[in-house]
Amino acid sequence: MGAPPTRPADRALTKPRRRLTSAVAALVALLAVGAGVLVGLSTPAPRPADAPAGEFSAARAYRNVEVIAAEPHVAGSAANDRVREHLVGTLRGLGLQTEVQDAVAPEAGQLSGAAGGATLARVRNVVARLPGTDPTGKVFLVSHYDSVQTGPGGNDDAAGTAAILEVARALTTGPRPRNDIVFVLTDAEEACLCGAAGFAADHPLARDGGVVLNLEARGSTGPVIMFETSRNNAKLVEVFGKAAPHPVGTSFAVEIYRALPNDTDFTAFLDRKFVGLNSAYIDGGAIYHTPLDVPARVDRGSLQMHGDNALGLAREFGRTDLGDLDAGHDDTYFPVLGALVSYPGWLTLPLAVAALLAVGALGWLLRRRGRATAGTLAAGFGLTLLPVVVAPLGAWLLWAAITTIRPGYAELLDPYRPVWYRLAVVALSAAVLFCWYALLRRRVGPAALAFGGLAWLAVFGVLLAVAVPGGAYLTTLPALAGALAGFVALATRRDGPWPVVAVTLAAAVAVVILLPPVVLLFPALGMGMGAVAALVAVLLGLAVLPVVDLLHPRAGGQRGLLALRARRLGALPAAAAALAAVVLAGVGLAVDRFDAAHPVPTHLMYALDAGTGKAAWLTREEKPQPWTDGYVDGTVSIADDFPGLGATELRGGPATAAPLPAPKVELLSDSRSFSDPPSRDQRVLRVRVVPQRQVRLLTLHVDTSTATVRSASVAGRDVPVEPGDGKWGFGIVFHAPPPEGVEVTLTLVPRGGAVSVRAMDASDGLSAVPGFRPRPEGVGVVGSHSSEMLAVARTYPL
Ligand SMILES: [Zn+2]
Repeated sequence: MGAPPTRPADRALTKPRRRLTSAVAALVALLAVGAGVLVGLSTPAPRPADAPAGEFSAARAYRNVEVIAAEPHVAGSAANDRVREHLVGTLRGLGLQTEVQDAVAPEAGQLSGAAGGATLARVRNVVARLPGTDPTGKVFLVSHYDSVQTGPGGNDDAAGTAAILEVARALTTGPRPRNDIVFVLTDAEEACLCGAAGFAADHPLARDGGVVLNLEARGSTGPVIMFETSRNNAKLVEVFGKAAPHPVGTSFAVEIYRALPNDTDFTAFLDRKFVGLNSAYIDGGAIYHTPLDVPARVDRGSLQMHGDNALGLAREFGRTDLGDLDAGHDDTYFPVLGALVSYPGWLTLPLAVAALLAVGALGWLLRRRGRATAGTLAAGFGLTLLPVVVAPLGAWLLWAAITTIRPGYAELLDPYRPVWYRLAVVALSAAVLFCWYALLRRRVGPAALAFGGLAWLAVFGVLLAVAVPGGAYLTTLPALAGALAGFVALATRRDGPWPVVAVTLAAAVAVVILLPPVVLLFPALGMGMGAVAALVAVLLGLAVLPVVDLLHPRAGGQRGLLALRARRLGALPAAAAALAAVVLAGVGLAVDRFDAAHPVPTHLMYALDAGTGKAAWLTREEKPQPWTDGYVDGTVSIADDFPGLGATELRGGPATAAPLPAPKVELLSDSRSFSDPPSRDQRVLRVRVVPQRQVRLLTLHVDTSTATVRSASVAGRDVPVEPGDGKWGFGIVFHAPPPEGVEVTLTLVPRGGAVSVRAMDASDGLSAVPGFRPRPEGVGVVGSHSSEMLAVARTYPL
């Protein structure tokens, strides 16, 4: 393989100075575009408390954040009652018809799920209505007002709830909207999405469906991303692009979101055929669900963005004809410099095929014009796979090395100060790309390498169009733009300005399209999956290669000493980027240390069998931190003793039994069933499970080796019965149980002898447990639904 010889027309641009001037101009232009992309993803300035009444003010909303997130307020707690009273008072104060929906509701979707059973909760949703003047339907503004047990939920979701209160205030000051606006502040989202499920299924206002705008947070800062829509979203996306003042959203996000273990109230509405948009800010994930999620950690800019978008969308959906929102197809959409660009999803595959054909045609032209040979084109394509594989691998290894140095990162969604590590991954990706380019540029030729990059972008475009259509634009459009730039470069004088202009424009398209995912994937997936961002960064780098190439002396022209100098110059960017990666990772390790304000997260639970008096400390930490290690000494299986805690293996150790009572199982009635055909073997057991202390959840499991469960109902609600695994094959999880307990009816066929059931309840807080030692400074609580849980269980024969 050799670079094709330089033709006479090429000589003008081989003049180093002119070539360098073009390169600098092109790079400055690209940097400006990159800066524009970052500005487009930034949050607005928070508006002050004296902003005009019709506007959303983060300062006004923040006052409600402080009230709502004054303390942890898990569903069913007295603190949550106080929050609810504040919400009802505030909405009534705005003159809105406000009520509390008090119901028992099942979970939405398939979440935590009791093995072979059901999850329910007692919920109290706050529902207020602003009646429209001539309604065509209803607009629902939804957020959850409950928090996790471990933290006050300043961001999750006091910010969303306070934003809705402020939107309600702004809407009531202006002219009445045409459509009904319903404010739904849900309960027990953290437990099981039960509040939203109960509203969507049973509330009279939900009967005819409508448009749902759900406001969430999975962190403390960053832009609000519209990350999920209902199906056939084209018209919703059109309204979003038009009416949201800061429309950051991409059809790729929903594909990423599906890969994450998170879920929101929106799921409950989608289950019930509502349409709508789901938005959240997600950066600063280190404090998610932890005691650190306090009001002071709410980024007022993110709050302003949430509110601006919610108010703009509420107004627009408030006047749109809601009878007509099903477009029949999905859109591809993505942010472009502060605006939203969209096109119909059915264009995805044709565009991807067009990009592939265009890149193929470019390869054919390059060969015809003598810029490449079949051999170099093939080599360019094959060798481009190297950086595509090596950069993500490098990012993964880098993070593995960093977590080896700092094992506490393993339990964090993202480090407290992740920016250094993110930049290190980007620098590492650049180093891999530059190194690869420096090694191959002279041997394969810049044209063939640029072709290789475009070809992979086009191939990925087709693969994505088939598998992940919402993400195909990411590589299809840069490939298409690159191929078109190649045509222009080949069709115009090589020493004229057009080739440089064309490749710079194509690179700008790539920056506009691929820089946002690089920026947003880091917080979305966390550093543990920084490799995905590295992959996108490399794809962006490949698309920008023709501009980077302008920095190099033209290939093939030099001999001897000059060539040696060129090669050294080519190695310079690679070495600089590699050094930057090492330095940035080092700065990250130096800056992001664990301390009192940034504690290392630890997870601890206590479980007591009140029947046997056996107790245990349990942790979900895979490699327990030193503090946790003082409680646990090995792997334990809890499925048989504490089926209510799930079937996973945990680390555990012996504990002193606390004098705590298990929930009581009171037999209310025991009869033969009158099934058809009549079955003498079938028993109908009506029991009441009564907690003996203040608890957050209650579970009841049936030993399916003593009876087969035919059907069950909880608080009068039938629940699905599917055979589960293990000893306790059927179970019910009930969140926020009332003090008087929960009535359960089981229809079952005993295997002869007594039916064995196991009741468990759980409260929060371990400080009163014998043997518990308070965490020292710098050791914190991991954000999880089971941190600090205190469970008590007992088996009853019936
Ligand atoms: Zn949450």
